[in-house]
Amino acid sequence: MTGWNLPPGCNVRDLPGNDDPPCEVCYRSSDVCVCPECPTCGVQGDIGCYHKHGLKFSRAQVIGRQEMRVIVYRDQLQEEEAYLAYLRDETQPFPNDLLEVPDPFE
Ligand SMILES: [Zn+2]
Ligand SMILES: [Zn+2]
Repeated sequence: MTGWNLPPGCNVRDLPGNDDPPCEVCYRSSDVCVCPECPTCGVQGDIGCYHKHGLKFSRAQVIGRQEMRVIVYRDQLQEEEAYLAYLRDETQPFPNDLLEVPDPFE
């Protein structure tokens, strides 16, 4: 851990082991993307088609998004737990900016 900042907001593109940016619709990596081609423009995995061309998510896409959400939260939980352990082990007084923010969820 470096510094006293809370873990930054999660970003699926920063996930470990994900060199390829995942599909922006189903969040699977591009080789296992489950998105169908858009019947209107023929593009696969474009989130814009779901807004502009009326595409609907399939079950596999919904599940893919939820799987990625679980991975992101699990990753975030590990960071929070590491931060908690760090706080518990810290013997120095906590810095002021930490003391002035009573609610980390604000
Ligand atoms: Zn996809
Ligand atoms: Zn389209």
